[in-house]
Amino acid sequence: MIKLHDLWFVPFLNKDRIEAAIDEVSDKLNEDLVDENPLFIVVLNGAFMFATEVLKRYTHSCEVSFVKLTSYEGTATTNRVNELIGLEEDVVGRTVVIIEDIIDTGTTIEALSGLLESKGCETYKVVTLFLKPEVYNKNINIDYVGIEIPKRFIVGYGLDYNGLGRNLTDVYQLKSTNMTNLVLFGPPGAGKGTQAEVLKQKYNLVHISTGDVFRYNIKNATELGTLAKSYIDKGQLVPDEVTINMLNAEVDKNSDAKGFIFDGFPRTEAQADSLAELLTSKGTSVSAMVALEVDDEVLVQRLLERGKTSGRADDSDEGVIRNRIKVYYDETAILKNYYQKQDKYFGVDGVGAINEITERLVSVIDTL
Ligand code: 5GP
Repeated sequence: MIKLHDLWFVPFLNKDRIEAAIDEVSDKLNEDLVDENPLFIVVLNGAFMFATEVLKRYTHSCEVSFVKLTSYEGTATTNRVNELIGLEEDVVGRTVVIIEDIIDTGTTIEALSGLLESKGCETYKVVTLFLKPEVYNKNINIDYVGIEIPKRFIVGYGLDYNGLGRNLTDVYQLKSTNMTNLVLFGPPGAGKGTQAEVLKQKYNLVHISTGDVFRYNIKNATELGTLAKSYIDKGQLVPDEVTINMLNAEVDKNSDAKGFIFDGFPRTEAQADSLAELLTSKGTSVSAMVALEVDDEVLVQRLLERGKTSGRADDSDEGVIRNRIKVYYDETAILKNYYQKQDKYFGVDGVGAINEITERLVSVIDTL
């Protein structure tokens, strides 16, 4: 993680990934523009690094020029764009290729397009290192795209945050602030569901129960649900990748959430790594693993009591109950160890009235 001015940024795309994309784009330019003697127009400041790399890879004859534009705030019209460094070359009849670092709404590229047209350039191509397809809303065709990215604010590889970060060769994204992501654990009978509900309301979190997510996807026959079902039907475990893709879709569905409560996932160290990766890709991370701790004998009594009224067969047999508790501890130990190493494990006494337990959880969460 890095800090630029007042903000934190987390790794997003490394140099190798970016350079692989540049190789691909450059190969296409080399193929498409042979004998065209193109005029590359580099849009400053951000595109300097990308342009350097593309031009180093461009093997045919070409010319290079630079423009620097600023548009007045809040306007998208081409006639209200400032040319800080103007375009001096004659563009009439030339093969012009605009080199951009990033295309977001497309305001800048639209302005530049207007500028070129006003100088008599009828056709031009656009190459950009990054494109945000969710946000781009103009009709100009973007001919060559290095990497499509989601709606995030990124820095590095020429892109800055208030002047800083342009020299970074990896790309970072803004870390979401104030997100609380909990991995919630509790043995059967500990009241995990009840507490998840309370925490969800109190902190405005989204509760992602893996079991519910599976049932939802299978019931609605989503692509991932159908895939998961094909494993379940064969009596096989659903591969982690399928589960993580479902969770990813849940997280994306709730992109404005203040955070998430993960329930039922992760269960293994590999899954914990995948979850970390998923959250990193969203600019956030697991804040804490919170585990409700309840003495085995209390759990057995609670579940037997519940079994009398719930009618759940697995709540009525003491042997079955003890085995479920054992399985829980076996699984939990792995994750407890994993998150303890990162100082993210918090055990919370789960015996007492519901509100007392909530208070204990709140006192942990408020320190995160
Ligand atoms: P537009 O909305 O006109 O397509 O993008 C405007 C300009 O905003 C881009 O040329 C770039 O300078 C800046 N910009 C857009 N998205 C990002 C981003 O994620 N990071 C940085 N550093 N600048 C961006």
